[in-house]
Amino acid sequence: MALLEDDFSNIDNFYLIGSCNNTLVGTNPPPLMMLSKRYDSIKIEDGVLKIGGATPSGKIASFCKKHNIANFEFLSHLPGKLGGLVAMNAGLKEYEISNSLLAITTPTGSKQKGELAFGYRFADIKEPILEATFQLEYGFSSQKVKMFKKMRSNQPATPSAGSCFKNPKGDYAGRLIEEVGLKGLLRGAMCFSEKHANFLVNSGGGRFEDAMWLIEEAKKRVKEQFDISLECEIVILQCD
Ligand SMILES: Cc1cc2nc3c(=O)[nH]c(=O)nc-3n(C[C@H](O)[C@H](O)[C@H](O)COP(=O)(O)OP(=O)(O)OC[C@H]3O[C@@H](n4cnc5c(N)ncnc54)[C@H](O)[C@@H]3O)c2cc1C
Repeated sequence: MALLEDDFSNIDNFYLIGSCNNTLVGTNPPPLMMLSKRYDSIKIEDGVLKIGGATPSGKIASFCKKHNIANFEFLSHLPGKLGGLVAMNAGLKEYEISNSLLAITTPTGSKQKGELAFGYRFADIKEPILEATFQLEYGFSSQKVKMFKKMRSNQPATPSAGSCFKNPKGDYAGRLIEEVGLKGLLRGAMCFSEKHANFLVNSGGGRFEDAMWLIEEAKKRVKEQFDISLECEIVILQCD
């Protein structure tokens, strides 16, 4: 795997990953690239918070706790690196990483939040995020950390890539998967979790083909039964 340092001339030939927490890597993935350690940084500067694209969520949460900074409590138990978190607009309910975002830096320069569009698990960012700048607001809340921990208590501990599908408007992907009889159905070592049906879990040695079978089966059954088109939240990396 290539490491992205300062030379961005070749990036179009690679797919940039963070820490693959929302990614299903296939048997024939495109060439992958990740930001080097150079982009693992977090600092307070000029009255704002500056975070490098390769900074893990746990490090951000610890820094904010130590420096009494508000608005990042939801990262305490949400895996990923800053670039992946911003690119997915990761969050829990109304708490999303874009809420306190001010700007991002990419290889072509700086972009203010107003120049970008964010939605539910969506950001229209096509370039590598090397750094992001956030509003600095003081008042870290341990209460919020507890609240987020409780919110996540329905998620399985078995390895997964997080939520498999985006929730369709006014409904829940997990509920629909359960309704069509796929909750807990084993395909090899893969299944939609008994604990939360929108988590596609791997109980050990799960195969990409089995994961894809379950994803396609869920889409098909939910379309047939509810006329709803499920949209993947997980990013599938497979070349034909
Ligand atoms: C157990 C579990 C629970 C989870 N719970 C939640 C949750 O509650 N809420 C939530 O929102 N998510 C959740 N997730 C999903 C995941 O944590 C987030 O999507 C996170 O943002 C992924 O970060 P990553 O670095 O692993 O990104 P990756 O999975 O590596 O990549 C995801 C996308 O981001 C892009 N990307 C990565 N780095 C960069 C960069 N530097 N610049 C531009 N684009 C980049 C990739 O190209 C890809 O399209 C969960 C995952 C797991 C495994």
